[in-house]
Amino acid sequence: GAQLYAPERPNSRGFDLTHAPTLERIEAARAPFRDHHWTAAPILAGPSAPEAGAAVINPANGTHTGTVAPTSVADVQTALSHAHPWDAPASARAEILNLAADLYEENFGEIFALLTREAGKSLLDGVAELREAVDFLRYYAANIPDAAPAGLFTCISPWNFPLAIFSGQIAAALATGNAVLAKPAEQTPLIAHLAVTLLHRAGVPATALQLLPGSGMVGAALTSDARINGVAFTGSTATAMKIRAAMADNLTPGAPLIAETGGLNAMIVDSTALPEQAVQAIVESAFQSAGQRCSALRCLYVQEDIADDVLTMLKGAMDALGLGDPWPLSTDSGPVIDQLAQTGIRTHVDVARNEGRVLKELFAPAGGTFVAPTLISIDGIGDLEREIFGPILHVARFKSGDLNKVIADINATGYGLTFGLHTRIDDRVQHVTDAIHAGNIYVNRNQIGAIVGSQPFGGEGLSGTGPKAGGPNYMPRFCAPDRQQADG
Ligand code: GLU
Repeated sequence: GAQLYAPERPNSRGFDLTHAPTLERIEAARAPFRDHHWTAAPILAGPSAPEAGAAVINPANGTHTGTVAPTSVADVQTALSHAHPWDAPASARAEILNLAADLYEENFGEIFALLTREAGKSLLDGVAELREAVDFLRYYAANIPDAAPAGLFTCISPWNFPLAIFSGQIAAALATGNAVLAKPAEQTPLIAHLAVTLLHRAGVPATALQLLPGSGMVGAALTSDARINGVAFTGSTATAMKIRAAMADNLTPGAPLIAETGGLNAMIVDSTALPEQAVQAIVESAFQSAGQRCSALRCLYVQEDIADDVLTMLKGAMDALGLGDPWPLSTDSGPVIDQLAQTGIRTHVDVARNEGRVLKELFAPAGGTFVAPTLISIDGIGDLEREIFGPILHVARFKSGDLNKVIADINATGYGLTFGLHTRIDDRVQHVTDAIHAGNIYVNRNQIGAIVGSQPFGGEGLSGTGPKAGGPNYMPRFCAPDRQQADG
């Protein structure tokens, strides 16, 4: 069973943005980083000879946030040959990870500035992300299983949670005593560089944690070397499948792949729902973080009887969204991550517009890679061929007698990440939540923002391999196989 090395700590308290003195404190702390130019490079336990530096772009306005020198082929070999499992006692590892959490919190000004200027995150999102990162560090530090580490873990993380998911994967792998090769998303190397710097400052040894920024080619090299004992990956389902194939060809059989991937997340709003509550939950779930969460709502099913009312209110709520540069607190929805993302999402909206299915479209601000929050009418979730990773909400109407067909259609996508339900009928809550295949189900609230320790996050089917991050089953998967079986 899990052994506690550190006192169980409550989740991070974060920052109350409605409290004026707190807001002033944040503004003062992040102001020095308004025009700062960061640099990132591989952080290896041996000599590094990276590629030539490339600019890191602020998606809100195209300016340069910093420069990154990507990992070279030689650097990958250096990292592999210098990696060494973290063989300090579990209590010492826990203490250092807790210290790192403290350092993250102390550096909130730089972290908020980076989340905004490198990843296009609003301040509200930045606050939530720092909290989650800190929670992961402390939660894993407090719950280290009594088991041997797998050995050497590759951690490949996404740009949409460039601090929280980056740190969560690493914290779990380090807490269990592994050596980690961390490959951050190509779009967000700067914040990863800061995170690794803080983890080292807290006392994580250089051989236990190395940073390898770069493109998918670096990730491919780090998932196809026989010295790797396991991979933690968060990103697209397609990439997860490539990693699985590379691991099967090259790694020791049974090496774990912990993958958290995409979703085609639905919400059902029936005619007994509270419209105001449902609309607020819909707006947050679909448009917060510019829809760039894998938990985000993609397909809303609203019962015919109240559909007109709900859609009228929803359009009004969309008009109230603050769009633009994510630095000011007034911004609710910032840019999407880059031009490639913007073009892909816009193409999807263009098709819908040509078919006369756009119900509402806001104006996208100019200057950055913005996409206007948009409502698109569809017949059902089966019309969606892929996850559209942006602020685009699809809406379908259903008749009360068709509820079971709606559930079957949602399950038939093969994904199973998040699901939302708004109803005031208790029996229906039971029936629908029993029938839906999804990792995280939320009733009468929004369906984003899982909380470490109380809402472990992860999906089933095409949405991931499990186990859920921030829950009790996560860390045993980072341990040596014999022990994993013993733990179930
Ligand atoms: N854990 C996040 C949430 O609950 C989503 C993570 C992701 O997008 O990968 O909203």
